[in-house]
Amino acid sequence: MKSHRTAIVWFRRDLRLTDNPALRCAAEQATHVIPVFIHSPDEEGEWAPGAASCWWLHHSLSALDADLRGRGSRLIVRQGSALSSLRQLIRDTGATLVTWNRLYEPAIVARDTAIKTALGDSGIEAESHNAALLLEPWAIKNVQQQPYRVFTPFWRAAVAKLDGLPSPRPAPRRIPGPEDWPASTPLSKLDLLPKIRWDAGLAERWQPGEAGALEQLDSFADEADRYSTARDRPDESGTSSLSPHLHFGEIGPRQIFAQLHLLSPSSDSLATYAREIGWREFAHHLLFHFPHTATKPLDVRFERWSWQRSRKPLAAWQRGLTGIPIVDAGMRELWHTGWMHNRVRMIVASFLTKNLQTHWLQGARWFWDTLVDADLANNTLGWQWTAGCGADAAPYYRIFNPVLQAEKFDPHRHYIRRWVPEIAALPDRFVHQPWSAPEPVLEQSGVKLGKSYPKPIVDLRESREQALAAYEAMKTLP
Ligand SMILES: Cc1cc2nc3c(=O)[nH]c(=O)nc-3n(C[C@H](O)[C@H](O)[C@H](O)COP(=O)(O)OP(=O)(O)OC[C@H]3O[C@@H](n4cnc5c(N)ncnc54)[C@H](O)[C@@H]3O)c2cc1C
Repeated sequence: MKSHRTAIVWFRRDLRLTDNPALRCAAEQATHVIPVFIHSPDEEGEWAPGAASCWWLHHSLSALDADLRGRGSRLIVRQGSALSSLRQLIRDTGATLVTWNRLYEPAIVARDTAIKTALGDSGIEAESHNAALLLEPWAIKNVQQQPYRVFTPFWRAAVAKLDGLPSPRPAPRRIPGPEDWPASTPLSKLDLLPKIRWDAGLAERWQPGEAGALEQLDSFADEADRYSTARDRPDESGTSSLSPHLHFGEIGPRQIFAQLHLLSPSSDSLATYAREIGWREFAHHLLFHFPHTATKPLDVRFERWSWQRSRKPLAAWQRGLTGIPIVDAGMRELWHTGWMHNRVRMIVASFLTKNLQTHWLQGARWFWDTLVDADLANNTLGWQWTAGCGADAAPYYRIFNPVLQAEKFDPHRHYIRRWVPEIAALPDRFVHQPWSAPEPVLEQSGVKLGKSYPKPIVDLRESREQALAAYEAMKTLP
């Protein structure tokens, strides 16, 4: 006997049917289930989804609707205030239960808490669940009962709690809908797709939606044994490329852990991969406990840093025209595909915040708009870590040398030649630093520095020394 006649499942960033506890809960407790997505970007504070995320969201919602239809259901789309939309839907359908899966960004936590109270006050049952993380951010505390700020002890404590991890649950075979469906806004009305169609590269590279996520996991599973050696090579596809699927909840970390047997990994590669999923957990733990870090440094000393404010270097960085090939390759990969390899993310972020002395938030905002996997927790951690002002900071001020990094991680020059074709004809030893090539070599390779490809916008050695001096000066400020 079901305890509710009609339930609403409020889909947010859990755009899947498999191992979706909010969906399962509604299907178990109600005779009729109404899946709903409410587009309310204004409620995400200053971090409303960027352009690449909107592109992904459009296609993922479309895939979710098709998957629901295959099970006798459909996705109802509304836009505007989430609470008003839910109230309207409750009036339209007579629903007495609303279920959803939790998100952990500060603005969303505040909004959802208010919605839960408001629904409860009107006699509607509201139930939230965990679909996004292995462990809730509040489940792990250090011996002083404080949140962790360093990854290794955090992950050790997390792993110790993973034994009781519930197994992923299959998608419901049928999702019984009401006799009369409430009205739905056509997806196209949400205006998620760009007006100027710059998205061809995204469509070439990605398949948003649950089926795309599961296929991606299957294909990574065949290769996962090379992860620990291949993961640092931007010229190879040695990582899982699951980040946008994880961000939109088209797959959850419990499913990845189960399929790859990550609780007891059978190789170093799988153990390393489990730790990377651990970094995602850590990022969510940090953002939940230190919500101000989306815009402010965790290490308060960095509030005194005097960042360079000129827009010109930032614009050159954004457009992949800095004259430093590995940086430009990464920024172009990002623009074209909506994604950038992790090693290159670290290199371009270090270059922006250290060599160009530009505020990490400027970089974080550009990533936010252009990454298909833009994720407030992971992006904040990545930028603050690289800028040196976040958790797990190195005991020294780490400045990546982009030329040495490129030599090491793009040894065959394939990555640079793919993304910076202007210098592809240079002999190998000059590809990572075209400014060091003699004039006749440049000429022979069809490269005109300053014309066909920029000269470096900063001197790497000088800018490194200036950054180190600024760091020393900051440390001595009272
Ligand atoms: C400056 C900077 C900004 C970043 N911004 C984002 C972002 O907005 N969204 C995002 O998902 N990742 C971000 N990352 C982390 C990382 O670069 C990506 O998660 C990774 O490149 C995604 O590719 P993948 O799925 O093939 O990763 P894999 O190597 O296959 O890793 C598997 C999963 O683990 C998680 N993961 C891996 N590395 C990290 C990490 N360092 N921090 C947190 N989670 C991690 C991701 O969910 C990833 O999908 C950022 C890193 C840096 C240095």
